[in-house]
Amino acid sequence: MPYTEDRSTWFAGQGLWSHVPESDWKDWTWQLKNRLTTLEQLERHLTLTPGERAGCLFAKEKLALAITPYFFNLIDRHDPHCPIRKQVIPRGDEMVVSSGEMLDSLGEDEHSPVPGLIHRYPDRVLFLVTDRCAAYCRYCTRSRLVSNAQDYNFHPEYEQALRYIEAHPGIRDVLLSGGDPLLLSDKKLDHLLGRLRAIKHVEFIRIGSRIPVFLPQRITPELAEIFKKHGPVWMSIHVNHPKEATQELKDACERLSFAGVPLGNQSVLLRGVNDDADVMKALVHRLLRMRVRPYYIYQMDLITGGAHFKVDVRKGIEIIRALRGHTTGYAVPQYVIDAPGGGGKVPVNPDYVEQITDDEVVFRNFEGKQFRYPLKAAPVKENAGIVMPAEIHL
Ligand SMILES: *Cc1c(COP(=O)(O)O)cnc(C)c1O
Ligand code: SF4
Repeated sequence: MPYTEDRSTWFAGQGLWSHVPESDWKDWTWQLKNRLTTLEQLERHLTLTPGERAGCLFAKEKLALAITPYFFNLIDRHDPHCPIRKQVIPRGDEMVVSSGEMLDSLGEDEHSPVPGLIHRYPDRVLFLVTDRCAAYCRYCTRSRLVSNAQDYNFHPEYEQALRYIEAHPGIRDVLLSGGDPLLLSDKKLDHLLGRLRAIKHVEFIRIGSRIPVFLPQRITPELAEIFKKHGPVWMSIHVNHPKEATQELKDACERLSFAGVPLGNQSVLLRGVNDDADVMKALVHRLLRMRVRPYYIYQMDLITGGAHFKVDVRKGIEIIRALRGHTTGYAVPQYVIDAPGGGGKVPVNPDYVEQITDDEVVFRNFEGKQFRYPLKAAPVKENAGIVMPAEIHL
């Protein structure tokens, strides 16, 4: 069934929790305290499939189960194929480990000079500041360390990491991630951003966070003030499906934007969630309307137990082809594969170029029409009939 975007509505409300005072609902600490974290809690609100039941029982050994009430409301409780449901409710398929899958599929541990810091690209570092998230995505690349279900020895060392960054003048870009950095207290974030800002060679600071999507209540005016104070701070949010683009998310994005935080979005291509050109188109349009520029679509990493989410790369390329030229250029993200073992992000694009020779490049446009662009500038007419002023000698 083609996905049609509903342009008029942005979901807002308390849904199943309409009995809760609005002040609680809007309080991010209330949302965190009232997360659904057990099979029993889930079953109070919806009928799980046998596969989901098995997944929930297994979750504590793999990646914790946690869903904020706010995000849970976005689930269609009568549809086991709901794209929101698939992202956060564990399934038995997670227990199936397939060939090629790895716990540390991006070789991050090998590129970690100090605990919590990954230095893969010469000019930028990934700084993992926490192992906690507001809710847990079943396809998480860092499931080995987030939620601490696997007893992974993760102890980010802020002081050591900051000293490493200070000592390496080649690092101009610091990306705070995790886990979710926005779970840190305002005070801690203020301190961390202040320390990074004080390092002369760090010219670009950004945060990767799914908090605006799982817990938009966390984006308080006070938090926005902190970003304003230490700005420019850029942020990549993580929206996978247009149903996540709610009024609450829109409001949170506005608070960030108005505090001078440029926003990008990263999506992971997931089977049965967003592996469809109509869904992606609806998503990127919604993002633009929230002042968010689609940044990356990731081919899912080779995480253990992720095979049920895997999408054929040709499908991803087809999605990009369906966007480029067919919608606003700003709406088209870059499709990338993070090279297994730690090669970094590599773009995968549709081929528009058919041939390049010394003479010309032959290519096709978004409609499939062929065009040629000559590369050799051969004079066809001496001076093309232009009379040069006498003092110029060619
Ligand atoms: C993704 C990533 C970055 C940032 O890459 P950009 O393409 O600049 O967004 C930096 N370091 C690591 C280890 C990464 O995985
Ligand atoms: S928010 Fe990010 S780090 Fe946390 S579970 Fe989801 S993908 Fe993993």
